[in-house]
Amino acid sequence: MFRPIPIVDYLSTIISICIWEWINTRAHRAGQILGHAMSKYNRGWDRAEPKYKGLRNQGSTCYLNSVLQVLFMTKEFRDAVQSESSHTSYIDADLKDLFLQLKTSSPTTEYIICKLGIENVMKQQDAAQYFEKILSLASPEASQVFHGRLIHRTSCLCGESTDEHNSFWTLNLPINNTHNGVYNVEDGLKQFFSQSKLTGENQVYCDECKAKADTTTECEVGLYPKVLVLLLKRFEFSYYEMDYVKNNCPVDVPLNIDIPKGVSYELYATVDHVGDLRGGHYTATIQPADDGGCWYDFNDSWVTPKNNFNPIKYVNFF
Ligand SMILES: [Zn+2]
Repeated sequence: MFRPIPIVDYLSTIISICIWEWINTRAHRAGQILGHAMSKYNRGWDRAEPKYKGLRNQGSTCYLNSVLQVLFMTKEFRDAVQSESSHTSYIDADLKDLFLQLKTSSPTTEYIICKLGIENVMKQQDAAQYFEKILSLASPEASQVFHGRLIHRTSCLCGESTDEHNSFWTLNLPINNTHNGVYNVEDGLKQFFSQSKLTGENQVYCDECKAKADTTTECEVGLYPKVLVLLLKRFEFSYYEMDYVKNNCPVDVPLNIDIPKGVSYELYATVDHVGDLRGGHYTATIQPADDGGCWYDFNDSWVTPKNNFNPIKYVNFF
């Protein structure tokens, strides 16, 4: 019969290993070890088959696993790639196979990796970039689940205004204006949709006035996506460092969010990232539909119930 090791000893060992790994800036491995250890410990108490399956890591492909798990749990997307009409020229066919396997086992992602043209599986990459890459290779029926359109309006004081329409799969929010060191997504969205004035040196040429003039710019949603994806711009280029740097600022993401004008969305998944730019580890936190509101941590092969949120959210799905 399984006898659990006293939790204090067990946790202190895990924490020591993780600290050591962190010191060596290997948060990726530390995240894996923690996930594995916690999953093993949980299994000691409950040997029932886990409800959801994980995805095997092929080296450092946690960035891909976390995105694939969210796509699998996005019903509209899953239905679209599983429909009979999906063409083999799109990545839908590979995703369809993967999703079928995910229902009963913890598959590898070799075919997807091949389709995405990933040559070095040991290299950590950006989950958000691969989310967009998968959508760009998916059929229009599948990718339209995330498709929205923004209208950028530029208005001169004379009344002349021009609209520019831009399609999007993610709304990208800069992490700034933190309060007590925490970035609030609701405030960020308010700022995103607020009007800004371009005056002085920033004046814009107006065709009507035939001169540079004070101008206002603002953005509104022209097409609301079925699934709204909010990306927090954690990875930004720093001219001081002359390299990309990661902003590890904790964020406050609400469970419900309103987009102007009056459309509400409910959070069901986040892709989280711990560590720095090149040595971090990605996991996904997901609330599967029809599961009584329970949340789960998807850490590569290990899926465990999750009771508390971490503030390291990166890509947020509503
Ligand atoms: Zn004008």
